[in-house]
Amino acid sequence: MVGSAIVRRLSTAGETRVVTRTRSELDLTRQSDVEEFFADERIDRVYLAAARVGGIKANNDFPADFIRENLQIQTNVIHSAHRAGVSRLLFLGSSCIYPRLAAQPISEDAMMTGVLEATNEAYAVAKIAGIKMCEAYRRQFGSDFRSAMPTNLYGPNDNFDLDSSHVLPALLRKFHQAVVSGEQVVPVWGSGKPRREFLHVDDMAAASCHLMALPADQYWSAVSDHCSHVNVGFGSDVSIAELAERVASICGFKGRIEFDPSMPDGTPRKLLDVSRLKSLGWEPEISLQHGLSSTRDWMVEHWNECG
Ligand code: GDP
Repeated sequence: MVGSAIVRRLSTAGETRVVTRTRSELDLTRQSDVEEFFADERIDRVYLAAARVGGIKANNDFPADFIRENLQIQTNVIHSAHRAGVSRLLFLGSSCIYPRLAAQPISEDAMMTGVLEATNEAYAVAKIAGIKMCEAYRRQFGSDFRSAMPTNLYGPNDNFDLDSSHVLPALLRKFHQAVVSGEQVVPVWGSGKPRREFLHVDDMAAASCHLMALPADQYWSAVSDHCSHVNVGFGSDVSIAELAERVASICGFKGRIEFDPSMPDGTPRKLLDVSRLKSLGWEPEISLQHGLSSTRDWMVEHWNECG
């Protein structure tokens, strides 16, 4: 989802040579394949958006897969990029790197100040390692390896599979399906009370390109050597209950929402402090209302591929 949005953005900006690989063309968990790729292609800048990602259930059910695959992907790409002389790299992490009960809004320096949320601890530890790896390469080799921490993302090419998706695509799918099949009740996991911040993936791609394009002195004077990442958020959040109401209304659902307390709530709140990014000259443009309805349209148009 994020990779294809960055490619769209770079193409619109007239970038002449964008090198991509699909998962079937290059398995980033295989060290020698990644080394070969970097040796064959002469890559100048790397957007490291590839990762194993998933919603609360997938993270909770498959922690070993999440920690292993993410550590492998990022280690292979970061080290091969270094060896191949890549001039700049942007590592994409996640807002789940922060302590479960971090003060809100969460500033970058809250990382590693408290206990992580249990449902996605394995994924978070891998992402923290990615940031620290970029910092270590900068300290040891002077690499210009930067990191961006996105909040919950959504948009075209999202995962709409109910077992592994995040909440927003899951709700779009559930409410749309209920309207199509005439069901009167839609289940929503947990209590509905947790709050989440949502950013459209085209905004994320714009922020990624913005961070990548910043001159080195500007980026590195806004961050520090031991806290080098930049939060990328929308700036405000909604409760899951409120999100469900909004999605229901966009889909034209008139029935009842039923919360399922047997499913986990996860972190109570994770609203990012985006002042660092703002000071670097970037703000989001796509409202939640607009993003929700365009993502619904995308989902309906691609219903067969959404599983
Ligand atoms: P998180 O941000 O890492 O917790 O990941 P999710 O996006 O998967 O879940 C966010 C919140 O939405 C959690 O409190 C979930 O329990 C809640 N939620 C409600 N309904 C759903 C659903 O159908 N799918 C998912 N993934 N989460 C849901």
